[in-house]
Amino acid sequence: MSSTMKSKVIGIDIGYIVTTIALVDIRGTILALDSFMTANYPQINSFVEQICERVVLLAEANGGFDTVRSVGVTAASANYKTGSIENAVNMPWKGEIPLALMLRDRLGLAVAVGNDAHGTALGEFSFGSAHGMENFVVISLGHGGVGSCFFSNGHPHLGCHGFAGEVGHTCVIKDGRQCTCGRKGCLEEYTSERGIIQTAREIMEESDEPSLMRSLPELTSMAIGSCCDQNDKMAWEVFRRTGYILGIGLANYASITNPEAIILTGEQTQVYKWLGPSMEESFEQHVFHNMRGKVKLVVSTLDNRERDVLGASALAWTVKEYSLFL
Ligand SMILES: [Zn+2]
Repeated sequence: MSSTMKSKVIGIDIGYIVTTIALVDIRGTILALDSFMTANYPQINSFVEQICERVVLLAEANGGFDTVRSVGVTAASANYKTGSIENAVNMPWKGEIPLALMLRDRLGLAVAVGNDAHGTALGEFSFGSAHGMENFVVISLGHGGVGSCFFSNGHPHLGCHGFAGEVGHTCVIKDGRQCTCGRKGCLEEYTSERGIIQTAREIMEESDEPSLMRSLPELTSMAIGSCCDQNDKMAWEVFRRTGYILGIGLANYASITNPEAIILTGEQTQVYKWLGPSMEESFEQHVFHNMRGKVKLVVSTLDNRERDVLGASALAWTVKEYSLFL
């Protein structure tokens, strides 16, 4: 079989909730998509079997498995350098999971594994706001955490051990809130949705003043935002404090890396309308003076789910073609 027939790759994005699989051609067009609930497979072996079954079915229904060149996978706490998921906090599997090896042995294809932020940045680089940029930072603001990936001269900076970009676990408040990582005062404890909700609770406890937030059936960042739209003073204070801290975190990041742009992605960009003004003000206030006014702060316009699976597929092109059967 000629290797020139292998014109497609598989991109797999493993999320806390949904695992998405895409068959993608060389131009980045998604030819077919499949997905399933991650939590339905708490055992890693059955999870991997499930992925493999679906990859084969997807490929066979769309031109044949023989046309697939390689596989790219993104997941939280995955390490491009080792091909493993390492001690993921919110996943059902514990310890070190040699995912690239497990998939390669079962599928007989080359497999690249990278963390979710790496995939997101590749997606923005290949298809989105970072297209044509050499130096940029991609930040993902999620419900539970804050991740990032930094591109330097057109390549992702992975670090010596593959753990670079853990901006969510940089300390922004000395002796601050307890973080899931075991330390205190981490950025994501304040700027993920969890953190925003916690700030809202603290502000409500600080006084007896009336606030629309007090009568919300469920406290979410979007619900707090809708209170801002009704001129609720306390709701605005939630985003003022959050934006101030996020602005410091991003200014520190920019002062070290001097990026052309910081691209904000993830589900929490939906509150940017309320968070953005104070974040931008704090950023300009705290960034190194020679960079002031020069770093673009951009909100991604891509569909999060589609971008992340395309990012995973872009990862597949970074590994050498390999076959068990040649
Ligand atoms: Zn932490």
